[in-house]
Amino acid sequence: MPDTLETIEQPERALVVTPHPDDAEIGCAGTISKWVKEGVEVYYVLCTDGGKGNNNPDANPQETAAIREQEQRDAAALIGVKDVVMLGYPDGELEDNYEFRKDLVRAIRRFKPDIVLCPDPYRRNFYWHRDHRITGQVSIDASFPYARDRLHFLELWESEGLEPFKTGMCLLWGAEEPNAFVDITGTIYDKIEALMCHRSQVGERPNLNVEKFVRDGAQAAGELPGHEYAEGFRMLRFRR
Ligand SMILES: [Zn+2]
Repeated sequence: MPDTLETIEQPERALVVTPHPDDAEIGCAGTISKWVKEGVEVYYVLCTDGGKGNNNPDANPQETAAIREQEQRDAAALIGVKDVVMLGYPDGELEDNYEFRKDLVRAIRRFKPDIVLCPDPYRRNFYWHRDHRITGQVSIDASFPYARDRLHFLELWESEGLEPFKTGMCLLWGAEEPNAFVDITGTIYDKIEALMCHRSQVGERPNLNVEKFVRDGAQAAGELPGHEYAEGFRMLRFRR
């Protein structure tokens, strides 16, 4: 348990970096919906195409990806996300390499988020999908120091006119020891609805198991900060 809880200041803009379609909904959709209602501009980057997320013997990655990318657009539109950038890396094949780091630096310099939200790459006791670890690690590195420093990825300035940008913090979802919480009591139903947009993953509506899964998770997260429903994050602050 953390010694003290951090306070999350209201951002003007936020960027969510999600490895697969549906991860952002599980990790932070209640927070995003709350912020959007309060006037925050939110953007999503979807790193992989989700093409491996189907265990049906007749499934193929291309069709699965097309379905899941549309589900991600539907979920983002439902809660008022302004734009979804789809990087289109094959599901399960993300690498911590120059190309992926540059993609995320480009998004940060373009959208200028005060807060970047992404998976916690450092879980010790409960194993994460490889794409989640790499998404989290590269999102943090892209936020600090790469997007901040002019001479990193200089070509983004020279050929695309993207100025360096200092992001204040990362909020890591899926953290084993969250130290920052958002009260999502008012937007719990938006989170459920957004997750239900991923029909290929959660089945047809109405789906009471999905609703129970979301409510139980948010209720457990709310115990420490004293909210009916919450989302918990580990906060990483950067020098500005
Ligand atoms: Zn995932």
